[in-house]
Amino acid sequence: MPAPSPANSRPGGADALPRCAVCGTGSRQPPFRPDPPEQAPDLDLRPGEPVRSTMARWLQQCPNCGYAAPNIGRAHPAAAQAVLAAPFRALMADASYPALARRFLAWSHVLEETGALHAAAEASLQAAWVADDLSRPDLARTWRLEAVALWRSGPPLDAEQTVRVVDALRRAEAWDDAEATAAALAKSNPPEAVAQVLALERRLIGAGDSGRHTVASALPPPARRPHVAHQRIAGRGEPFFARLKRWFRGG
Ligand SMILES: [Zn+2]
Repeated sequence: MPAPSPANSRPGGADALPRCAVCGTGSRQPPFRPDPPEQAPDLDLRPGEPVRSTMARWLQQCPNCGYAAPNIGRAHPAAAQAVLAAPFRALMADASYPALARRFLAWSHVLEETGALHAAAEASLQAAWVADDLSRPDLARTWRLEAVALWRSGPPLDAEQTVRVVDALRRAEAWDDAEATAAALAKSNPPEAVAQVLALERRLIGAGDSGRHTVASALPPPARRPHVAHQRIAGRGEPFFARLKRWFRGG
């Protein structure tokens, strides 16, 4: 197996381009520092605008070998083998997939090969978002179901991640699996904000609605929420709840 190139760690001159950690090719990769989202995220936590429409800049991709990652100057020791192997080469050559979606699938593949199954699921879901934007529901469905399979093949999921599995199944119109997964989660007495999102998911599943909805639509307006519920949610400190709390307050 070829070792990842040490080229990226070599001190370069002022005009040296950042180097791919897999093949050593230098390329111009502008840094990406997005402004924080101002709109509520979707139920699967796809961020609202202005981050939402910046997906073309979320990942860097090497123009030579196709390795894609948030920073292609770094790579897991097993990444080079994955990038040079036949499945990755076939993915790179598959022009039937949109190029931006292939970039997320490339990252997903590398993550899966290096054992980061939940991160691979995220990247596969992101490929589905690209397909959503390009009005390719066939591809979006395929990649949502791949994300679900990756989530389920990794370590056990917590309640908030399981809601995202339910959402991916609903958006992929896998109604029976979506409802069964939602029902099992509902029985586990999930935290209140998760329960509220879950209740919306179950209403949407019951109505056969596979569309996009935001977290804001799952939560009642702040004025109607009892004070004690605010305190309970504020005390949890998980990222998902922190995000929900911001949307509660009219974000
Ligand atoms: Zn490369």
